[in-house]
Amino acid sequence: MMQIIETVAEMRDKCAALAGPLGFVPTMGYLHRGHISLIDRARAECPSAVVSIFVNPSQFLPGEDYERYPRDMPRDLALCEAAGVSAVFAPTAAEMYPAGFSTSVEVTGLQDRWEGSIRPGHFRGVATVVARLFRIVQAERAYFGEKDYQQLQVVRRMTSDLCLDTEVIGSPTIREEDGLAMSSRNVYLEAGDRQRATALYRALLAAQRLVDEGESDGATIRAAMEAVVLGEGLRLDYAIAVDPDSLEPLERVDRTARALIAARLGPVRLIDNAPLTPPT
Ligand code: AMP
Repeated sequence: MMQIIETVAEMRDKCAALAGPLGFVPTMGYLHRGHISLIDRARAECPSAVVSIFVNPSQFLPGEDYERYPRDMPRDLALCEAAGVSAVFAPTAAEMYPAGFSTSVEVTGLQDRWEGSIRPGHFRGVATVVARLFRIVQAERAYFGEKDYQQLQVVRRMTSDLCLDTEVIGSPTIREEDGLAMSSRNVYLEAGDRQRATALYRALLAAQRLVDEGESDGATIRAAMEAVVLGEGLRLDYAIAVDPDSLEPLERVDRTARALIAARLGPVRLIDNAPLTPPT
């Protein structure tokens, strides 16, 4: 029987009692196949899997979508149960941030680029809540999606810097049939914008195609991605080829890199990324 837990104390006890190694999947809920792929992997690689569902207020900026972020706890719990999850941790904000909570975790450098420059403070909120969740759950392994590639690098760095005993495992992005990366926020897309939202994926494909053809100039690759996104009338935040670990921009893509892209379509912000692999 899957247990639904709301307090830190009960979650700590439950996780300590479960058969290990324990696999942990932190989420903000409104689960889709991307989340389920992480849960399935945790289940396949660990005797027990636990999930957290917490829409973390501290990673939203003022004016962002915290209040209207999509939520459906009954459906999420049914999906977790069906996926074989042992326990779901669904704390209130007061439980996660008790009165007097005043610590925060900053992953300087990594947190300031790309998403961090457009959403200042976002990764402080992410790193802080993940550190607290890791200490509560004390899982041997935690599973994160490559969909949020910068977040994955921030969490990896935080875990290594703070010697947290949880191995961070990145897992590939799950996409709709037409390439759109699955996201809880895709429900915000208006019907007329749905097809245009695939521009990010098409831009990533265009970048890889150029690299396949022998192009290694970072600026040329960047311009090709921008052309696809702007050609569809989206507002571009950034499109860039970066070092896969430091996320520093690359002048030359002469080794495996990561293409990062973010754009706005009406009221919706979309992000995506993919590896860029030069021919050998
Ligand atoms: P979220 O609920 O959006 O905070 O996401 C929870 C976890 O699921 C994060 O590690 C995300 O990177 C991951 N995730 C979200 N969308 C996808 C996707 N399309 N494919 C794989 N993982 C995903």
